[in-house]
Parts: sequence; C-alpha cells; structure tokens
Amino acid sequence: MAVSEQVRSLRAAHFEALGFPHVPCDVCELPTDKTATKRCDACWEVEHRLAAYLRVGGEGAREFVRRALDEANFDAMFDADERRR
Ligand SMILES: [Zn+2]
Repeated sequence: MAVSEQVRSLRAAHFEALGFPHVPCDVCELPTDKTATKRCDACWEVEHRLAAYLRVGGEGAREFVRRALDEANFDAMFDADERRR
C-alpha cells in the first residue's frame, strides 16, 4: 500500500524543514527519518508488535485484526498502485 502524493510531500517537507535526512518507507513509501530501518513508525510498530499483540490479546485481538483485514479495501489499494505505474 502506498500513501497519497499529498501526504508524502507534506511529510517530506516536514523533515526538510527540520533538516532531518529522510527516505521513503520500504512498505508504504511515507517519508521517514529512520534511514537505517527504512520503516515509518506505523509500519515498524505493526511489523514488530503484531505477533505479540495477537499472542497476548487472544481471540479479541485476532478478531480485531480479522475485522481490519475484512474492512480494508485491497482492490482499491491495488488499483491505485496500478494507476501510479
Ligand atoms: Zn510505512
């Protein structure tokens, strides 16, 4: 999934105003100042904490993630990716 061009440019401008080096997140392409991991904060948190959340949260956590996946409109996301190419 990729973020909108407007969000991307606002985020890049934020880091440039602060004088922080930044790179696109390898997952969502949102500019991030985490140049070593190349993960924005949100992607890093999901990748590093989802397994623990599912483990300690039990069925409630699993249901939350299932609902989020069901509600995600992946077709629209993939269509947007295709339009950018
Ligand atoms: Zn990201």
